[in-house]
Parts: sequence; structure tokens; C-alpha cells
Amino acid sequence: MSISETSQRFISLEEKYGAHNYTPLEVVLSRGEGPIVWDVEGKRYFDFLSAYSAVNQGHCHPRIVQALTDQAKKLCLTSRAFYNDCLGPYEEMMNRIFGYDKVLPMNSGAEAVETALKLARKWAYQVKGVKENEAIIVTCNDNFHGRTISIISYSTDENAKKEYGPYTPGFETINYNDTKALENILKERSKNIAAFLVEPIQGEAGVVVPDNGYLKTCFDLCNQHNVLFIADEIQTGIARTGKMLCCDHEEIRPHIVVLGKALSGGVLPVSAVLCDNEIMMTVSPGQHGSTFGGFPLACEVAMAALNVVLDEDLAYKAAILGEIFREEMSKIKSPFIKSIRGKGLLNAVVIEPQNGITAWDICVEMANNGLLAKPTHQHIIRFAPPLVITEEQLIEGIDIIKKSIKSLE
Ligand SMILES: *Cc1c(COP(=O)(O)O)cnc(C)c1O
Repeated sequence: MSISETSQRFISLEEKYGAHNYTPLEVVLSRGEGPIVWDVEGKRYFDFLSAYSAVNQGHCHPRIVQALTDQAKKLCLTSRAFYNDCLGPYEEMMNRIFGYDKVLPMNSGAEAVETALKLARKWAYQVKGVKENEAIIVTCNDNFHGRTISIISYSTDENAKKEYGPYTPGFETINYNDTKALENILKERSKNIAAFLVEPIQGEAGVVVPDNGYLKTCFDLCNQHNVLFIADEIQTGIARTGKMLCCDHEEIRPHIVVLGKALSGGVLPVSAVLCDNEIMMTVSPGQHGSTFGGFPLACEVAMAALNVVLDEDLAYKAAILGEIFREEMSKIKSPFIKSIRGKGLLNAVVIEPQNGITAWDICVEMANNGLLAKPTHQHIIRFAPPLVITEEQLIEGIDIIKKSIKSLE
């Protein structure tokens, strides 16, 4: 990829002054609209990453930006030391859409996951009657739930975890997509198990879709053993997989739902934990919080972002366009393509490297041809365009993917 002087200048600044905790593709973006982004040279790309599914509503959605700018002129932050006139209406809307008694607002996804873990522990001690400091939370291999010390304590990704110890105790890890493993640990230790934390589809692991019925069986097992089922829907929620929540596909209602990313349409960091009173009311004033959590600006942005999802029927669009994506992709015959999988518009292609050409090289070639995506775990490319993409644009994107793969054969 040839890099212009302008781009190189921005890349060098990040190299020199920023921490090297990412390996970005060498594209410097400066503008976005819907499913399209432009770089500093004015080159146009389809965004098939959508900021890891934070931009389901498309870049700079006018209704969300309007809500942001209107509220920014009125009141941005009050802290929770006072009431404000945005939080209550937002919480009521969350209740209406998702059907849980209460919401606890946070900012980043990792913070919301931490909140869910804290709620599960409180519930275990106050309601289930687990002896204090003995609660266990069961997690899955290859999970991704964020980057805090407690969260990486149960990561199975060496690179995310090593040299960050000592780790937080109280977590056990079982295989993903293995109901027997859950059944076994619940049989042996259910007395101390507070919760089972799971991604309905493992996004960061490479869009790993579990067997049909997996979530339902796990949910039933949790109910049988008086254990909370926590769904981390940060990446799979907000219409990405063709339903408002991915758990809706199996018609289960998790005891705790964690949301983030597209909850704000990618405009602000807004996350949330949803559950009923039996769990939420175990936390009293002073026992948890966040300076920005539920700030007026975030509430207005999240309400606008949710209204866009509902009014534009983005869940339905994701379902239909996802079918088209997988069908069209499966028509591409190439030794590079090992398999295609996904649900709704959360999809991945597993790449079989050929002659030293890897998933990374394919992503560079796609960028040259005007489509942005990134490899995860070396040989998997995730394809997750904003849900506002039209069918014509999706087909155009698939043509770019095809052309790029073919040119490297
Ligand atoms: C992105 C993600 C998180 C972490 O969210 P941050 O906002 O980056 O902290 C947690 N869980 C899942 C499933 C995610 O995809």
C-alpha cells in the first residue's frame, strides 16, 4: 500500500507519541457518513468493521448527531449527585424496549461487564446465600469481555493476559459451546456459583457461532441450579445479528444483559446493565457508580440511537442482508476461503493462507480497493458493515472483496 505524505504524518505522530497497543491498518480516516468513510486524501471506503459493531446505525447518523448537538448546548454532565431531566426518560425507554425492571448506566463495555460481575456477586451473597468471598463466576474459553484486570483474569488469550497478574480470583473457565461442561461444573459446585457469563456469539474470537440451542440449554441449566445467566451482548446486541438481542434468536431472557458499543451509535461511550429488581436492588447508594454513567448527553444520544434502530428496522435489515452476504460470499470460489460463518450482519471468513499471503495481506488489498476490514486471530476476517448499508452497497462491497481475493491468487 502506498502511503501519502499527509497520511504518513498522522501515522508518525501516533507512532511517536501514542502507546503501541494496537496495529492499525495504514489508513488515516477523517470523515464518515452511513457505511462510508473517507481518508485524509479523500479516498472513499466501505467500512466493514463498524468500529467492532459500535456503528450499527452508520457513521454520523443525522438524528443521533442532532440529539448530541441539541443536548450539548443545554447540559452535558451533572454527575449523579443530582437528578437530571434525561436519565429517567432514558431508563424508562430501556425498560420499554428490553423489558427489564431496571438499568444501571455506565460508559465503556468493560465497565458494564465489571458492573454485571459485581451485581452477580452481591446477588449471590444477599439472595442465593453463598458464603461471603466464595462466589464463583463461570466463563468460557476464548472469551472477550474487555480489558480490566478482573476481566483479563479469566481471559484465555495469553497476549491479553500475561504479565498483568496477580489475577482476580473467583472465576472458572469452561469450553464454549459445550453444554456438558456447564452441566458438570453446575452439578459439582452450584452451591457457590453465582453466574455464567457468556457471549451469544464470540465476536473477538472470530465470530464463533455456537450450535443452535446452546444458549437455551445453558439458560435452562442456570435456572435449574439457581445461577444467573449473564449475556454479554456488547457486540451482538442492538440489532447486529438480526434481532434486537442475539439471545432473542433462542427466545431466552437472560437474568442480566450487558450492552455497549452501538447503544450510542458509536457517538459516545455508553454502556448499560439490565436486570430485574431482585438483582439490581442488591446494590445500595454508594456501593457502585461512575462520574459519567448516565450523563444527560449520553442519555439523549442513546435514546436517539435506539430510535434509529427501531424506526429504520435495522434488526430486520441485518437479518435479510446477512443472508445475502453469506450467500454471495459462498459463490466466490477461492483457495483462500476456508469457511464463511455468522448471523445477521456479524460475519467472518476464515482464510487459508496461500504462498505466504495472509488475512492481513487480503485486508491491505481490500483497503487499496476501497473496503476496510481487519483480521482477528491471524486468519479470520470479520465483516460487519453498518446496518444502514443498502443492498446495492453491500453487493458493491462483496465485489471488492472478491476482486481483492482474486487478485492475490
Ligand atoms: C468490545 C467488547 C467489550 C468491551 O467493550 P469496551 O467498550 O471496549 O470496554 C466487552 N465485551 C464484548 C463482547 C465486546 O465485543
